[in-house]
Amino acid sequence: MSIISDSLKRVKPSPTISVTQKVRELRAAGKDVIGLGAGEPDFDTPLNIKNAAIRAIKKGDTKYTAVDGTPALKKAIVNKFKRENKLNYSIDQITVGSGGKQVIYNAFMATLNKGDEVIIPAPFWVSYPDMVLLSGGKPKIIKCTQKENFKLTPTKLRKAITKKTKWLILNSPSNPTGLGYTKKEIQDLAQVLIRNKKIFILSDDIYEHVKYDNFNFFTIAQISKLKNRTLTMNGVSKSYAMTGWRIGYAAGPKDLIKAIGKIQSQSTSNPSSISQAAAVEALNGPQGFIKMRSKAFKERRDFVVKSLNAIDGIECLNPDGAFYVFPSCKGLMGKKDSNGKELKTDTDFVRSLLETSGIAVVQGSAFGLEGFFRISYATSMKNLKKALDKISIFCKGLN
Ligand code: PLP
Repeated sequence: MSIISDSLKRVKPSPTISVTQKVRELRAAGKDVIGLGAGEPDFDTPLNIKNAAIRAIKKGDTKYTAVDGTPALKKAIVNKFKRENKLNYSIDQITVGSGGKQVIYNAFMATLNKGDEVIIPAPFWVSYPDMVLLSGGKPKIIKCTQKENFKLTPTKLRKAITKKTKWLILNSPSNPTGLGYTKKEIQDLAQVLIRNKKIFILSDDIYEHVKYDNFNFFTIAQISKLKNRTLTMNGVSKSYAMTGWRIGYAAGPKDLIKAIGKIQSQSTSNPSSISQAAAVEALNGPQGFIKMRSKAFKERRDFVVKSLNAIDGIECLNPDGAFYVFPSCKGLMGKKDSNGKELKTDTDFVRSLLETSGIAVVQGSAFGLEGFFRISYATSMKNLKKALDKISIFCKGLN
């Protein structure tokens, strides 16, 4: 008999974290590996934010805080939503957790009964289905094609809804595709949702600030009549290069926010007091860092997309934001690598690329869509140039 619970048996460890771990192991074994798997900015946290944390330590802000966030941080979040999204929330509509990941997990734990369905457009962020499974719910994966720019259409949404649907997850700009929903696309989906009064929407806006060109970011609560059924989730990890500080937050209906806090009160309690002080500075302090960083990411995106599209057998859409591309490797299927091994799936492609060329990317099937792979370009141009050269040589060497 196993000591492991049934719900945990349904869950697999995060494949993106596994790739990062594999890169660490190969490097430790002396191999020259470029990791393009990690989902975190390579920039350092801005100094004003670090200094705010140091001040908090010196001042003695080192005790438990309110479970779901300090009043100062909640106020900063209320102001952020007002300033950037024209959304009005009261303090008791805000919750803060140890990363957006915890907030989403708590939201599912607090709301899902056995058999409740969560609509997840694929490709998706790897953690969504497993968090739903852990909470006893049922992920309903809806595949969105490259032709659809990997985005959910109103027709597909309508077909996916059943009596058991409890949540729809929207993530824009998206991990893993980098594509974002336009205002009209969100409003068209809202038209479907408005008729189904029991469905809640999780808007995962974590990449709000990593966007390019003329892409205008909108979040569903801001541009529909669904605010009272939407959990608008965001965090400081990606916007302010603060992945290690573990601060995420959400705004939504009071009863849901209270329920999320209740789970947290019996699990981790408050997020780190020091990280919360740092997040106050991130949200209230100078915002110039965001623009500067997006400019650097845009240069990398342009280079990566152009280099990939120059390779025979690879096709890559141009992302609106985030720091990922999600190219197709379907044109290379059936070819053989230098060891004579036939590439039948995206996983074969990714494995062979790592073993023969030392480039670590993540297979599309990990994100729910086969025939693709994800590259994170949150690394230096020097690394990207070297990596894209090697990918090109690897692909040319297939026959
Ligand atoms: N949502 C998406 C789409 C992500 O890619 C991530 C992190 O990779 C998160 C949420 C969670 O971020 P964090 O827990 O660092 O706030």
